[in-house]
Amino acid sequence: MKTIIKSIIMNKVYIYAILFALASFAGHADAQTLNGEAFGILNLDYPGLEKVKALHQAGQDEKAAEALLDYYRARTNIKTPEINPQKPSIGKEERKWADDALQHTFFVHKGYQPSFNYGEDIDWRYWPVRDNELRWQLHRHKWFTPMGKAYRVTGDEKYAKEWVFQYLDWIKKNPLSPQDDAENVRFAWRPLEVSNRLQDQTSQFQLFIPSRHFTPAFLTQFLVNYHRHATHILGHYSKQGNHLLFEAQRMIYAGTFFPEFKEAKEWRKSGIDILNEQIGIQVYADGGQYELDPHYHLAAINIFCKALAMANLNGFRDEFPQAYLDTVERMIMFYANICFPDYTNPCFSDAKLTAKQEMVKNYRTWSKIFPRNEAIKYFATEGREGSLPAYLSKGFLDSGFFVFRNSWGADATQMVLKAGPEAFWHCQPDNGTFELWFNGANLFPDSGSYVYAGDGEVMEERDWFRQTAVHNTVTLNNKNLETTQSVTRLWQPEGDVQTLVTENPGYKNLTHRRTVFFVDGTYFVIVDELTGSAKGFVNLHYQMPRGEIANSREDMTFATQFEDGSNMKLQCFGPEEMTMKKEPGWCSTAYRKRYKRMNVSFNAKKESGDAVRYITVIYPVKKAKEAPALAAKFKNKNFSDNSLSVEVKVNGKKRTLEMTLDEKRNQ
Ligand code: MG
Repeated sequence: MKTIIKSIIMNKVYIYAILFALASFAGHADAQTLNGEAFGILNLDYPGLEKVKALHQAGQDEKAAEALLDYYRARTNIKTPEINPQKPSIGKEERKWADDALQHTFFVHKGYQPSFNYGEDIDWRYWPVRDNELRWQLHRHKWFTPMGKAYRVTGDEKYAKEWVFQYLDWIKKNPLSPQDDAENVRFAWRPLEVSNRLQDQTSQFQLFIPSRHFTPAFLTQFLVNYHRHATHILGHYSKQGNHLLFEAQRMIYAGTFFPEFKEAKEWRKSGIDILNEQIGIQVYADGGQYELDPHYHLAAINIFCKALAMANLNGFRDEFPQAYLDTVERMIMFYANICFPDYTNPCFSDAKLTAKQEMVKNYRTWSKIFPRNEAIKYFATEGREGSLPAYLSKGFLDSGFFVFRNSWGADATQMVLKAGPEAFWHCQPDNGTFELWFNGANLFPDSGSYVYAGDGEVMEERDWFRQTAVHNTVTLNNKNLETTQSVTRLWQPEGDVQTLVTENPGYKNLTHRRTVFFVDGTYFVIVDELTGSAKGFVNLHYQMPRGEIANSREDMTFATQFEDGSNMKLQCFGPEEMTMKKEPGWCSTAYRKRYKRMNVSFNAKKESGDAVRYITVIYPVKKAKEAPALAAKFKNKNFSDNSLSVEVKVNGKKRTLEMTLDEKRNQ
């Protein structure tokens, strides 16, 4: 009997020991367990922390944590541009994300809707589709800030309770230990994601801090976790590109929002230094961002502006020199020029379409930073105030973006052509391609990008959209360009006949010279000349808009049969033996969204050193039946290195188009 009792007691001891061990392990990130590390990473001499310091030094950390929470709840001098916790509001979409999150259905990515459920016991490694973005962006916690807004708007503590739970659950299940858990660290601790959390947690902190679930102990857990994030970025900044910009801007946030951390000044300074340096590296003199992707160009503007807004709100604007402001202004004007009258952007490279509503909001923010810029004001007020630029067509010769336009209004005829230098990751090998807007519609939308990166299947999808052959340009044997290094040989943006001549040595022994004439502000004549000793099939590609298109192999014509408003006729005049091929194609202007359309190519064999030459006339018309009869031919019988002359007939009316190049090509 004694032994039995003894064994029960002993077992009880074991059980208690086990329970205690479990509790202290879990206590590592527990809302009720204080993390004393917090007092070591804070500068306790920071004004306002006197009481915290005294209590901590007296060994009363629980009381010190309470005093620290009181301090933060009363703190009003530090502001962030994203939210005003005193005037909370939430839209329908964000409210849904907040409510779904209560059941662990997390809004991770717009391309994957409806959202996936991550289980009652949250599985932060769940990866239902092997697209890297889906797993990376889970760790951006996009539903946390909406939960905070829902909490503030409704006053319902369930949002705060759940946020605290999920915040700690994430810490517990996603340790930063690359040696033991490299696979998960690659996703959860990628610097871009870490920086995203650094920024958004400044909003969450402000929104949730009044809650009773935001306990003094939780505050210590939060601060230790936040500090680990900033420290991680400091040692792991991305090497280049937009990631580095994002990370730097968010370190400015971290250092500004929590000046109480010992390293806060260092964080802020590192961010400011990087932005000041990178704005010179990543932005060409004409204002184009070097990834040559309108979406990332826009993102870069907003990064630079966010840093400025944070500096403005918290009194360190003079840490950014005037040159920084001038560059941002040039970037905005670059974007305003390459976009269409409905505020949408060309979807070159990895760009997605940004809607008008969002752009008007952007222009309003920018107009506050650049109040004297009349064009920005015009776009911010949808034309009610300010004024349009005095010019129409505009070239950006460093970035290789060229805009032909006859108006800034919705009725404009506007071509945006991309033919720039070699660019960074998000850029596609598409030199010479264009989009064309006419009277309210985009008649030549780019194929877009559809997805970024992931396993084999996802990469295959990405690669389809990246192909040179699915752009409005020329390939050799339908292969991707080997070189994307366009040289502008002529840009003449004024008068009845405006001209661009751009040249890309796209393949070994094959150079593509594309001449575009914009005639009478009405139609385009595109002349493609392929020179060099390379042999094979030369393919001139055009991506047709969606809808009914009459076409004829006899005269190589495509004519849209759309409703009145925006139509066009395209006709190609090439070598005698030229063939025409129609293939199914895709167009994607949002992640994981695409529709079918027709890809067309005109193909001719290049068998000798002689140039292969094409003339394409694209004639926009309001009504399909107004499409004119077209004819075109070369007047110079052979390719000339420094000139070109073509004759075009529109309804029988003759027109000669010519260009002469001053300098010899540098080769
Ligand atoms: Mg593209």
